[in-house]
Amino acid sequence: RGELARVAAHESASTADGTRILVAANLGSVEDARAAAESGADGSGLVRTEFLYLDRAEPPTVDEQIDTYLAMADALGGQRITLRTLDVGGDKPLPFAPQPAEENPFLGLRGLRLALAEKTLFDDQLRAIVTVAHQTPISIMFPMVTTVDELLTAREHLDDAITSVGRGDPAGLEVGIMIEVPAAALKTAAFAPHVNFFSIGTNDLTQYTLAAERGNTSVAALADPLDPAVVTLINRVCRGAGPDRLVAVCGELAADETATDLLVALGVRELSVAPRAVPPIKQAVRGINVTANPRLVERCLEADTAASVRAALT
Ligand code: PEP
Ligand code: MG
Repeated sequence: RGELARVAAHESASTADGTRILVAANLGSVEDARAAAESGADGSGLVRTEFLYLDRAEPPTVDEQIDTYLAMADALGGQRITLRTLDVGGDKPLPFAPQPAEENPFLGLRGLRLALAEKTLFDDQLRAIVTVAHQTPISIMFPMVTTVDELLTAREHLDDAITSVGRGDPAGLEVGIMIEVPAAALKTAAFAPHVNFFSIGTNDLTQYTLAAERGNTSVAALADPLDPAVVTLINRVCRGAGPDRLVAVCGELAADETATDLLVALGVRELSVAPRAVPPIKQAVRGINVTANPRLVERCLEADTAASVRAALT
């Protein structure tokens, strides 16, 4: 039975009614990439590249980044990996890029906002990513995007990096944004012409939608990713993305088997989860039959509370 489970984990996952769902892994180290390969992950839907930047006095060199990203892709057998650009800020400060103290770091200079303020760091990372993208399939993803202008500015930096590396457009490079800010979820259709994919970061999207800080235990009960408001925003992203742009979920909700049915029914086609969650989520996908449950989305969108969303899902 152990062997059967292992084989199933390494096979692709489709729903009972035949929709292929990518079950990818979230990575924060080369070691994670090895664990993800063991678990049968379909590549990586989120590399948290900040692990290369935190707890050190100097930023990583371009060469160090290239070596690390290539090692991750290699550990996953050359499957596509999604490199999220540096996602730090007030709550995760960098010693080599000190910023003024902020009273509300989660509402401050973090994610792409910080990258656009620390252009040297950002441009070095983009050159590393573009170089790697000439050798292996890479998706690049910008975190904490709020406005279309931010995305367009980030894309200009990416174009400059492509020019600076000097080998033309990397053939397999895909560009996407994380949807973590409610404003971005509401404006998905406006972002769509400028990206290949969206990835919903339900951890931050929940925090910002419910105004309940992630990790603050006194408001943890409010910060429920199955709150109808968050479900409504996820639906909005799937509708706004249209049929030609992949919508992924890479927040913790992707690893919650209660939610798999709903996410797939809404149109999510990639779930990126911790390496150990890949086999159970593939199993959950195989148990889903969207056509057999046509009112599921409607019932969840009409629910008044997270509890009634859960009730509709069980
Ligand atoms: C998220 O916010 O859901 C996410 C995946 O990003 P992180 O947890 O790294 O903030
Ligand atoms: Mg986030």
